Amino acid sequence: EALSRAAEVDVKGGWKIGDPVPYAALTKTFSLIEATTKRLEKTALLTSFFLLVIQRSKKDDSNSLLQSVYLCINRLSPDYVGVELGIGESLLIKAISESTGRSLATVKADLKKEGDLGLVAMNSKNSQKTLFKPKALTVPFVFSNLREIALSSGHSSQAKKVSIITKLLAACQDFEAKYIVRSLEGKLRIGNAERTVLVALAHAAVLAKEYAGKRWSKEKLASRLEEGASIMKSVYSELPTYELVVPALLTQGLSGLRTHCKLTPGVPLKPMLAKPTKAIGEVLDRFEGRQFTCEYKYDGERAQVHMLEDGSVSVFSRNSEDMKAKYPDLVEQLPRCIMEKTKSFVLDAEAVAIDKTSGNLMPFQELSKRKRKDVKVEDIQVKVCLFAFDLIYLNGEPLLQKSLSERRELLREHFQIVPGEFDFAKSSDGSTTDEIQAFLEESVKDGCEGLMVKMLESDASYYEPSRRSVNWLKLKKDYLAGVGDSLDLVVVGGYYGKGKRTNVYGAFLLACFDADAEEYQTICKIGTGFSEEMLQTHWDTLRPLEITKPRGDIKPGGAKPDVWFEPKIVWEVLAADLSLSPVYTAAQGLVEERGISLRFPRFIRIRDDKSADDATGPEQISEMYERQALAQSKGGKKSKGD
Ligand code: ATP
Repeated sequence: EALSRAAEVDVKGGWKIGDPVPYAALTKTFSLIEATTKRLEKTALLTSFFLLVIQRSKKDDSNSLLQSVYLCINRLSPDYVGVELGIGESLLIKAISESTGRSLATVKADLKKEGDLGLVAMNSKNSQKTLFKPKALTVPFVFSNLREIALSSGHSSQAKKVSIITKLLAACQDFEAKYIVRSLEGKLRIGNAERTVLVALAHAAVLAKEYAGKRWSKEKLASRLEEGASIMKSVYSELPTYELVVPALLTQGLSGLRTHCKLTPGVPLKPMLAKPTKAIGEVLDRFEGRQFTCEYKYDGERAQVHMLEDGSVSVFSRNSEDMKAKYPDLVEQLPRCIMEKTKSFVLDAEAVAIDKTSGNLMPFQELSKRKRKDVKVEDIQVKVCLFAFDLIYLNGEPLLQKSLSERRELLREHFQIVPGEFDFAKSSDGSTTDEIQAFLEESVKDGCEGLMVKMLESDASYYEPSRRSVNWLKLKKDYLAGVGDSLDLVVVGGYYGKGKRTNVYGAFLLACFDADAEEYQTICKIGTGFSEEMLQTHWDTLRPLEITKPRGDIKPGGAKPDVWFEPKIVWEVLAADLSLSPVYTAAQGLVEERGISLRFPRFIRIRDDKSADDATGPEQISEMYERQALAQSKGGKKSKGD
């Protein structure tokens, strides 16, 4: 399909080998991708585009493909460098008005009608009469201007940004204005998940480099495409930076990718995650007969600590953000726990607040009071201790494919405990129900959230970057009380308060995030669990995020809040249980046609260590629903027997 659709993506005339990639070809691809909901078709279209880029780039040019990939995922640098777009509505309205000669009021009125500033910009441009055809935009030109916008700061930066945007918009034709504006807003909204980009890159590489000119059978081609995609996904999860992966793909091909792109200190990998379990019995069922270990589940913030051969240190968050500015104390403490034979490493750990005098563990809330930037060691009130639970790289060698028991041994041999600063996650390898129960109670008494239960031996215990794996199970004290797992949900709407709460929002509309479809699916309205003070804080954070209409990537269903928000803020929420709902859209089609909703949701805390894209996904929600149904049917049988 990718080969047969290349003509649709191509621009008529004028894209020769060695030319910069026409932005028109990219935006044509975007509009075709946006028009379909079929994942395979989206992948094929993107593959066609990447294939053209590869075929028409000069031999040593990897920038054309790199910048095209970045624009497809709407990023301008690797995550951990953090060059971000996200220009406010008012600035964009100003630029659209300036470049099209329409008044601010007209642009605003159109936005109210359309609900999508990208569309407004495109329609404004296309209804404008121009005497001269502007010079065609190219991918490198758009990319460098977007970077300039993202990087400009300081007091005259607003005017500078408006002027660059106005210049870009003036040169836009066809679909270009729509996607430039959406890029600037920070979301393309074409339902193009990063996974699709990785698969399309792999497919384009197979077609361009291996398949070209050969007569493979359909089966051979299909199996090679599948193999290529799996290599690409696994390489990228170890080394999530296109800056290294794209050039290596072009020079080494897929077959050489694994040897050239390995976990590298300095480049944060996506952390391994755990599946929830409801009872100790479930843990024993899952890990039956195999060796496992239980560790304290500390209530802090995940910290991936990297040290390079030259001694430089980085601390990354769960989202690969650089946290050196938040934890200068961790960086200062670190050399004391490293042994002389430890030259370079990647540690997986939890940074936990501890009481300065007693050394007791303190809850996550204490850490979240810390500023995210410019923290000075001398101003720090709450001390942080690092609890290491995994070692993923040591002295020049990735350890991903060693068993957890080997990794743990290396960890203990190469680091030393410094009281109040560094320790190993407390663990117990006992495997009976009583032993686990006792350890769980001890963990809760010590201020932890519960236990992490992990496979210890064989390939089932390898470190799996970016996976929510069945080989790591979390056993939280909350589940045992029968309340169930908490969910991380995005606040997408607000309802005005009544009575005492008239000056704030009194309730909120929450959504989960479907990473495949790139859409936010509504799940419940929440109005309990908030103190007056909390409601004021939410008002202050959410009010600037108000938008006129639900954004195109929000699937509202029957929900009708008074105001809509930019999906940005993530809350941890607990619920009594889950039920099928004709109103909300979460996980629609996974269990049944209807969506799933939370009953009696309760606010727990703000998760500012998670971005909207890290919110709980529909598969997790449908799994929770099915487990609940199973538990209820088991419970039902038992009571009948009784
Ligand atoms: P949660 O909201 O429960 O913290 P999460 O989505 O951030 O979950 P999970 O993989 O579901 O991530 O839960 C594991 C989290 O618990 C890790 O991200 C880490 O921050 C924390 N943690 C604390 N102690 C440990 C440990 N011993 N091993 C692994 N993770 C731990």
